[in-house]
Amino acid sequence: MFEEMKELTKKLVAIPSINGSSGEAAIADFIYGYVSGMPYFQRHRQDVFTQALPKDQLGRKNVFALLRGTKGNSKNTLIFHGHMDTVGVEDLGTLKEFAFDCDRLAEEMKKLPQTEEVRRDLESGEYLFGRGASDMKSGDAVFLVLLKHLSAHPEELDGNILFMFNPVEENHHTGMITGLEILKQFQEKEGLQYLFAVNNDYICPLYAGDSKRYIYTGTMGKILPCMYVLGKETHVGQCYEGVNAVNLASRIVQAIDLNADLCDAYDGELALPPVALKLRDLKPWYNVQTAREAFAYFSYMIEDGETADILHRLRDLSQHILDDMIACQQEQLQTYSQAAGIPYKPPAFEGKVYLFEELMALAAERELVHIEQNLAELAVRGRENHDDARDIALAAVQELCRQLQLSGPAVVLFIAPPYLPHNTLHRDKPDEALLMKGLERIAGDMSAQTGETFEVLHFFPSLSDSSYLKIDDSPASVAALTHNFPVHEQLFPLPMDMIRQLSIPGINYGCYGKDAHKRTERLYMPYSFGILPELILKTIYTYLA
Ligand SMILES: [Zn+2]
Repeated sequence: MFEEMKELTKKLVAIPSINGSSGEAAIADFIYGYVSGMPYFQRHRQDVFTQALPKDQLGRKNVFALLRGTKGNSKNTLIFHGHMDTVGVEDLGTLKEFAFDCDRLAEEMKKLPQTEEVRRDLESGEYLFGRGASDMKSGDAVFLVLLKHLSAHPEELDGNILFMFNPVEENHHTGMITGLEILKQFQEKEGLQYLFAVNNDYICPLYAGDSKRYIYTGTMGKILPCMYVLGKETHVGQCYEGVNAVNLASRIVQAIDLNADLCDAYDGELALPPVALKLRDLKPWYNVQTAREAFAYFSYMIEDGETADILHRLRDLSQHILDDMIACQQEQLQTYSQAAGIPYKPPAFEGKVYLFEELMALAAERELVHIEQNLAELAVRGRENHDDARDIALAAVQELCRQLQLSGPAVVLFIAPPYLPHNTLHRDKPDEALLMKGLERIAGDMSAQTGETFEVLHFFPSLSDSSYLKIDDSPASVAALTHNFPVHEQLFPLPMDMIRQLSIPGINYGCYGKDAHKRTERLYMPYSFGILPELILKTIYTYLA
């Protein structure tokens, strides 16, 4: 199967399916065609199908294929899923045109200066370079080739395997979220009982020199906390009379970005710290007025923490920074006044950091009865204009502040898309502990059999579609999220009840690669096409024997 998987990976890489392009539809068509051509699916045509994403101008779709085992009557079902999209190719610079041709890209890379490790990997012939080679077309190819072989012998399976390939994973996860409906239909109409899902998104070394192979029993959650910073504008000629929004926003970003004290943790596993993804002022043109407004947001990984606790912590931290900045500014004014020989008369600023829900409560107190509807309409217009979801949420917050006549300095903390629930197995829940033990046994057997070192961990460290199969957030945590997430129903509608009802553990096996989302993205083939398929087959024959 090694060569078959390698060739299929190259074919999948050759279909440029960059997130947000029509290539995402093209690759779905290819996969649908590949599965439809298998003799099993020639006989069972209704069991391979696509599902269009609603109102999607690019025609993107999910692909499903259900292999029904005939050994017994079990309704037990494993789900194997993977995403079909990739990130863009700008990072490849002058090699961009070869991004989708694995062999040519490797040849071209050999001609350029590379780090010692990349050069060694290039010369070894054991790595496949190319956009999506590691994240995660190889993972899809492994599933597809296994499906081809397994479907030749359905009599060996007591139970079923549902394959699902999704677009739009790299940003909004719309493919998986739309696909939940199909999972529910199979559950309700055919009585399929989902044991767990296996995603095949890439795994990689967790630190320099790490050679372990990881099995993740779940995936990291994430929220996107946003800061709307409202300063107090002034002319540069009276600069101490204002509070500069760019200064305040940059201090907040400095305090939060990569701050290891803010990391979430669960059962001995530490999440990565929050990362600033955006910082800009909202001044549309040049003049000599200081910036009145600024905007920043952060990717915040969550394993177990309650949304309210995280928001309160960020609010307290931001309040401290705001107070500190005002104090610093007054010190500077004092120094300046002394040096300039003028009286020191500091302006009295008092700044406050609000949560979005606090401002909504204030709006209710002041009987701004139409505010929710106003914001919803604003969001609908924004969607029609194809505005960025974060900008729409920001516009809603700005509108709310306008209607409340909120004056700066102030900061409003709110949440914008995407939101990914965290999802893993817990040792204090008997069913989940049992599955965890089962996976640990499989990992142990594989270590003994192959000489590789497998380790079972809770959280797939990158983000993944598996987030939407099961939700560990408490109802209180979800409530804190939605109360602080402006116009979430328009921006990021999530079928929470369906997710709670499905509640499917999301395991990640994954091909092994390096440098995903970087120009040197590459796949390590001996593990990915040699050992990973064995791991998957062992899992199948353990649970569907
Ligand atoms: Zn991926």
